[in-house]
Amino acid sequence: MLFAPEPLAPTLASARKVLKQYYGYDTFRPMQESIIANIMSGKDTVVLMPTGGGKSVCFQVPAVVQEGVCVVVSPLIALMKDQVEALKANGIPAEYINSSVGQSEQNSIASDCLNGYLKLLYVSPEKLVSPGFIQFLQRLRISMFAIDEAHCISSWGHDFRPEYTQLRILREQFPRVPIIALTATADRLTQRDIQQQLRMHEPQVFLSSFDRPNLNLIVRPGQNRVGSIVEFVTARPSEAGIVYCLSRKQCETLAQKLKEKGVRAGHYHAGMTPNQRASVQEAFLRDDLQVIVATIAFGMGIDKSNVRWVIHYNLPKNIEGYYQEIGRAGRDGAPATAVLYYSFADVMSLRDMLTKDADPRLSQLSLTKLERMQQFAEAASCRRKILLNYFGETLPQDCGNCDICRNPPTTFDGTELAQKALSAVVRMREKAPIGLLIDVLRGMRNQAIIQGGYEQIKTYGAGRDLPYLDWYSYIHQMLNDGLLYIAYEEGYALKITDLGKQVLQGQRQLPMKKFQPAEKAEKQPRGKKAASTAGVPTDAATQLFERLRQLRKRIADEQNVPPYVIFTDTTLQEMAAERPVTRTAMLAIGGVGMKKFENYGEVFIKAILEYGGAPNPADTEDNDEDEDGLPSATRKPRRPREAGDTHENTLQLHRAGLSIDEIAERRNLAASTIRAHIETLYAKGHAIRLEEFLSQSEYAEITTARAQLGGEPQLRDLFDHLREKYDYFKLRLAALYQKRLKG
Ligand code: ADP
Ligand code: ZN
Repeated sequence: MLFAPEPLAPTLASARKVLKQYYGYDTFRPMQESIIANIMSGKDTVVLMPTGGGKSVCFQVPAVVQEGVCVVVSPLIALMKDQVEALKANGIPAEYINSSVGQSEQNSIASDCLNGYLKLLYVSPEKLVSPGFIQFLQRLRISMFAIDEAHCISSWGHDFRPEYTQLRILREQFPRVPIIALTATADRLTQRDIQQQLRMHEPQVFLSSFDRPNLNLIVRPGQNRVGSIVEFVTARPSEAGIVYCLSRKQCETLAQKLKEKGVRAGHYHAGMTPNQRASVQEAFLRDDLQVIVATIAFGMGIDKSNVRWVIHYNLPKNIEGYYQEIGRAGRDGAPATAVLYYSFADVMSLRDMLTKDADPRLSQLSLTKLERMQQFAEAASCRRKILLNYFGETLPQDCGNCDICRNPPTTFDGTELAQKALSAVVRMREKAPIGLLIDVLRGMRNQAIIQGGYEQIKTYGAGRDLPYLDWYSYIHQMLNDGLLYIAYEEGYALKITDLGKQVLQGQRQLPMKKFQPAEKAEKQPRGKKAASTAGVPTDAATQLFERLRQLRKRIADEQNVPPYVIFTDTTLQEMAAERPVTRTAMLAIGGVGMKKFENYGEVFIKAILEYGGAPNPADTEDNDEDEDGLPSATRKPRRPREAGDTHENTLQLHRAGLSIDEIAERRNLAASTIRAHIETLYAKGHAIRLEEFLSQSEYAEITTARAQLGGEPQLRDLFDHLREKYDYFKLRLAALYQKRLKG
């Protein structure tokens, strides 16, 4: 187990040390530092930050610095588990208690708390208010209460949780313990509810910008979306992503289509059993599934930091929901993409749905929100500006990382074009919905046209030269400009306004934005912001990144944790670019703290060396002064650093008859590191007692499987083919042995 570090003086300097030592980051993000200072001064604190903004660090770092245990209230079991796993992987002693934890385990966690071993204890709200638990907490030294997803307390919010309303008990029972409330929902009502219900004392409120500059925002026309999504996904074989659909049926169909193209995709919706859903979610967290096609039931509590894209198959109901869903991409800060498919048909069906609400005021509110969503989708100016504006923030300049900024629309005189459409509207006696109007303009022949006698009108076929999508875009611009409106109650018929009549009669000019097909609008990023996020990697860096990713996946499978708990994508990208091969260089990579270095540093250095090592030969000299003046990671006495080659040391101990676990224990390294040493040693021709790791019959079975797969099979395929019977270590040793036999 991990041991609680000694408490430090609660200063920003020690907070920075903790950030470097445990998280491997050099600096706090702008607001984190002020939040941490406020928390350490013992004041109540409210933190409003977007998903991925870095809320966790705000209470975790003070928890490590200060004496006692920080009790974290968190609404979802999956979320707790992920956070605790990530903390442990960084070397911070933490546990969680909820309904999924058995009694004997709870007892042992309780005794760890009483002995002061834990720095953070996560609990569900149900557990917190259950009989006896408060009494138990009263026996602990509690540094602070952190209320995660604090918006769950507000009945105004979308994630209301009745149990959260009982949390005022904390202030009543622990009047002197500071409370920190954290959420990614920033509206005024929710904020007020949080402060009142938690009985906070004049809390300092930190409202961070809701901007997520690493998200590339794209809106595409909703035609042929299945084909377009399949193309998008297959072009990104190693990027995890989520597609949101409105209906369960769509989820299943699209997931099936993707599977047919060889994509590891799964679906997720409320019609599945809890077990089915949990297993799909788990597979996604572990990178076993690349893509999840889900209804919005999916996502809350997904802490996966390497989701690279989110697609909306349908128009979301409002901007709040949209922003929350796209916020699940790129939480690690690396570039990520959000694509929204927009079709007017979606607006119509959402309208139908929303007007059915029994409460007319609510229904009016939802319709207004839908309109704002529609305006966003149809906008011809910087999309990020529109989004931030919606949340009450202003962006001083255009973002440079949305489809409009990357490829600003050109304007032209659209008067004549508009007149054709307006004239057709009038001649069709204002009875035609948008699709029919376009068909008439383009001179199509279908039943509706023949029945209405529309091929007789003067403007029939007057817009033949333009494709459907272009017309679709221009008519929408006319709607937005107020030349036309839709009579929803008359089958969505288009009607002309006074302004429209003026344009039709030539009393007014109409500038229009030229329609651009999707591919063109998604050229390489441009502008300052886009370039300053991790940037476009070189080919070599991409290849190495891919290898490091596979290594991460292998270790994650061996240790039964999600890959991003080992390292985030950002960290791997930095490794691929910098190629650190010494301890100092590795520790300088963002996200590599002491514990992670101890556990994985060696194997990753080995992979980098195998790939070709440091780009700059001077970097291979380890002029490392060793101890970095950081507080000791654990109370465990630190072993003096060994002299000599690390592989040589493992070899000596192996020759002395020690098992892998014993060597790991002796050397204070992870067993996976020692296994990697053994492989390298064996590959280099050293004498290794292979029979200790691989029996004759195991070797025979693995070799047969290799032969069945043919060629030089991927380990992953071999692993699957053998139904996960053998771990990767055995699989690799078998391959090495076979190679040796063949000479
Ligand atoms: P939130 O809880 O607000 O959604 P997280 O706490 O999960 O955000 O942080 C998002 C990502 O940013 C994580 O990968 C985290 O490790 C990283 N991060 C947080 N603080 C920093 C920092 N100061 N420097 C670099 N990365 C950071
Ligand atoms: Zn923009």
